[in-house]
Amino acid sequence: MSGARRVAVVGALGRMGERVRAAVEEEPGLVLGAAVEAPDHPGLGNEVAPGVRLGSEVGPALASCDVGIAFATPAATLELLRAAADAGVPAVVGTTGFSEAERSEIEVLAKRVPVVLAANFSVAVNVLFHLARLAADLLGPAYDAEIVELHHGAKVDAPSGTALRLGAAVAEGRGERLADHAILAREGETGPRPAGAIGIQTLRGGDNPGEHSLLFLGAGERLELAHRSATRAHFARGAVRAALWLLGRPPALYDMEQVLGLRS
Ligand code: NAD
Repeated sequence: MSGARRVAVVGALGRMGERVRAAVEEEPGLVLGAAVEAPDHPGLGNEVAPGVRLGSEVGPALASCDVGIAFATPAATLELLRAAADAGVPAVVGTTGFSEAERSEIEVLAKRVPVVLAANFSVAVNVLFHLARLAADLLGPAYDAEIVELHHGAKVDAPSGTALRLGAAVAEGRGERLADHAILAREGETGPRPAGAIGIQTLRGGDNPGEHSLLFLGAGERLELAHRSATRAHFARGAVRAALWLLGRPPALYDMEQVLGLRS
């Protein structure tokens, strides 16, 4: 396909990697240029698209591509970002579960190459972040904020990156930081709920691709905002949209709300 920009997909045979490859195929402006998997993946060497064989080395994969997309492990994603910064190739990151140190390294690398990092690439979820910030601002501290998230049993990090981002949006709406108010677990003699707390509860099981509810609990009333995913395809389409948006941008760490024009 002439003129189409080439995409390297890291975690290419994972649940999200499969959807990303399908979304790239549907986008006329993009074509799969490279597919990367773990060094012990049984599919290495197999042809995953015409002329594209599954590899395990991210450096050579990026050399032939215009943009990278990673839905993989934090370690594999950092490997992609280091190679992307060296090669000057922009990258879209959907992986979640980064440690504080890994997150700091991403911020440093994004000074050298443009990166979109989003815990959730769904357009509707990013609108939810926007609404959460607005509702927290309008309702004020008299309404207690609680978040509940549900994901499939194979998810390896908790709470979800989306739940944390939703909590951060509530805190931003109140002019505060999530880290100063988050309660991620309750057990035993907890005492009364601290004023201004933002609770996040995690449910795991089945094959659910992701549900998030944000409750503002007031005296005699409550407001609920909720998003439910029925498939993973919309995350992949969002990541592809972010990849197209990112081409030609200056180095910086962007998020999906910026891709959608919901904030500058
Ligand atoms: P998954 O386990 O199905 O896929 C991850 C893939 O990464 C696997 O195929 C694995 O073999 C591969 N991998 C492991 N080590 C690697 C390496 N060194 N190099 C290349 N590939 C390697 O998981 P998933 O459900 O696809 O989720 C992947 C990540 O994406 C998770 O962090 C998840 O939370 C996140 N996620 C984000 C969004 C979003 O919108 N941002 C949506 C869904 C999932």
